[in-house]
Amino acid sequence: MLSPRVAGQAAQQRPGEFYTIATLGSHSALQILKGARDEGFRTLAIANDDTANLYRSFAFVDEVIQIPKYEDFPQIMRDLEQRKLIIVPHGSFVAYLSLDEHKKMRTPYFGNKAVLDWEASRELQRQWLQRAGLKLPRQFKTGAEIDRPVIVKFYGAQGGKGYLFLKDAHDFEEKAALLARRNYILQEYIIGVPLYIHYFYSPLTGKLEIMSMDRRYETNVDSIGRIPAVAQSVMDVSPSYVVVGNSPVSLRESMLAEAYRMGEEVVRVSREICPPKGLFGAFCLETIITPEAEFYLMEISARIVAGTNLFIDGSPYSYLNYDEPMSTGRRIAREIKNALLSNSLELVLDDSGLN
Ligand code: ATP
Repeated sequence: MLSPRVAGQAAQQRPGEFYTIATLGSHSALQILKGARDEGFRTLAIANDDTANLYRSFAFVDEVIQIPKYEDFPQIMRDLEQRKLIIVPHGSFVAYLSLDEHKKMRTPYFGNKAVLDWEASRELQRQWLQRAGLKLPRQFKTGAEIDRPVIVKFYGAQGGKGYLFLKDAHDFEEKAALLARRNYILQEYIIGVPLYIHYFYSPLTGKLEIMSMDRRYETNVDSIGRIPAVAQSVMDVSPSYVVVGNSPVSLRESMLAEAYRMGEEVVRVSREICPPKGLFGAFCLETIITPEAEFYLMEISARIVAGTNLFIDGSPYSYLNYDEPMSTGRRIAREIKNALLSNSLELVLDDSGLN
């Protein structure tokens, strides 16, 4: 067996032979694992009974660990800890594991778990984005305060499911039965174009990159405009915000500097609220752009988002930075590889995994 020092040196030359990149088999796992393989790592998908065969069918997946359901993941954490692997989280980790389970994970983890608390609480998230000087939709504490159209966001909703549009305080009164005994926020409805901006911040170089952008295709809000307004009023149709897909967007170049600045500010403030590392790696700002070309922030996702799956082969923006296809998944693996090569793996891993 190699001594740790010799193994460390060898790993610097051939990181893939020594480290496995692992993730849950869903969300953006294919992109993450393909990117990991392209950067020379071994790859592991932790899949469930429904998805295991799918992940086995891809040549770039070296190994599949099958568990009955994703919620069973904590049961295999001990075994994973014995191996030389790095977990790359995505949206399904947040969906299937509690914050506590996340934090108990001792396996080396790409990202900063401290940021999770700020992201998970709508209140803390708002404070973070406000401190970064970003524009946020107004929030109303009670129905009586509503003086403009609002969107009702129920806690725990995913992908916009179940959100309600209310045109005024009177509308709120009428929907009172639907809202009773549920937790929600009342947020100013911003009329504009939704744009999801995918960033990558490198703790190794201190540089922020715009990786790609997408817009979501939501039913039925994206099709209501196809019905003449006169017909809409007699149909009494209400918008819903259920995501069915994503499409790529390239932003007007004159708006790009502001998109970049917003990313920089979010990273800057993250270092104040979650010192010293703050937010690093992939993240997404979910915005709506108004006719005045102002960006309103709906939300931040502090990790790789599914909209990046459109760009497994790279995007117009990643092409400007790289002469090869560079997905966000591959960019993550590149960062881990660069960290290994410069002997600074601790800079790209959550601190609790290093104990
Ligand atoms: P996910 O967790 O998958 O990002 P979510 O449940 O947090 O989804 P949001 O992304 O906050 O939902 O919103 C879903 C959709 O609702 C958005 O894509 C957008 O169309 C609409 N939406 C959200 N907030 C606003 C707002 N303030 N004004 C107008 N539309 C909004």
